[in-house]
Amino acid sequence: MPNNDAGRKPTELLQLLGDEFIETASNAVEEAGEPSYRVDQLRRWLYERTPRSFKDMEGLPLSLREHLDKIFVLHPLDHDLEQVSEDGTRKFLWKQGRDGGRIESVLIPDGDRTTYCISTQSGCPVKCTFCATGYGGFSGNLSAAEIIDQVVQIRSLSQQAPTNLVFMGMGEPLLNFDDLLRSLSILTDPRQLGIGARRITVSTVGIPERIRQLSQAFPQVKLALSIHAADPALRDELVPLNLKYPLDAVLDAVREHCANTGKKVTFEYVILPGVNDSREAANALTKKVRGIPASINLIGFNPFEEAPYSKPELRSMIAFRDSIQRNYPGDVTIRRSRGEDIQGACGQLSLKNSPAS
Ligand code: SAH
Ligand code: SF4
Repeated sequence: MPNNDAGRKPTELLQLLGDEFIETASNAVEEAGEPSYRVDQLRRWLYERTPRSFKDMEGLPLSLREHLDKIFVLHPLDHDLEQVSEDGTRKFLWKQGRDGGRIESVLIPDGDRTTYCISTQSGCPVKCTFCATGYGGFSGNLSAAEIIDQVVQIRSLSQQAPTNLVFMGMGEPLLNFDDLLRSLSILTDPRQLGIGARRITVSTVGIPERIRQLSQAFPQVKLALSIHAADPALRDELVPLNLKYPLDAVLDAVREHCANTGKKVTFEYVILPGVNDSREAANALTKKVRGIPASINLIGFNPFEEAPYSKPELRSMIAFRDSIQRNYPGDVTIRRSRGEDIQGACGQLSLKNSPAS
């Protein structure tokens, strides 16, 4: 944390939208008596190279680096720990300042693709019955700067730029909506991180009005809906937010999203043996999503200590997939689990599983 400059609160640089950054950086450069081309140098350092500190910004005069260090915060998250899976998946643990919560993100290499899985909350208040993040409790929303900092720090620590970004880490993105929208703007602005919106996926259990707002603000961003059950009573049990936002209302918003954006969605379905993987459940699912341009992604439940479910056999997942596929025109895929040995797989992101906690 830089020193305070005459009582002035340091500004989080990664929190700023494109125009805000240009204005704030221009003022800082002027205050330091430097020419305006320094703004673009600072911009490139910040979004393209990601130094650990202002001191590392070679090419900027030392006096300017010292001034920036006094008035700005560069990284709101402290990098705490990294674990590498035998399949190459890397899990990063961060701390929010000294007393703040802990957050995890995951890098998943897969051939030409490098996917970053990013968190929007520390823990999650939704508390789905099959998700380790929900069991770990909820410490709060992340700021847009903390969301962006995961991306820039993973890139600088791994030296592997992301080809894809998925908001599938800790938390429910649509419950941290303002910071989600702000971070999407910073991620996609060509002056900032410049990541194509089509390469970004937001995964949600579904809040109708926010799905509508998201598809208006970022029509190219992909939507994944965590559906898990078509039966209302079962979905109420598995995904408690269904009590407030029932699936039928969520699916109306998803239909509008598809109609307005011309894009398909992905339905995610965690297979919980003996709970939601019967032939009747498959039929109910296909009936419920009929007519929506989508693919269905089946995810084998990843076990963790407190969870009351078992891990599905691959052959029962294949049988469930086949039951769906008989009545469903879209793609139905089974997601390969990655990073299980370091608790970096879906639903295993929990502060309880981290050796440092
Ligand atoms: N809150 C958002 C995004 C984070 S969860 C959402 O729920 O969509 C990302 C995905 O991991 C979701 O599809 C979620 O259902 C799945 N998931 C959660 N716990 C899991 C577990 N134990 N095993 C497998 N997948 C899980
Ligand atoms: Fe939260 Fe998603 Fe986990 Fe449910 S599955 S508890 S919404 S992170």
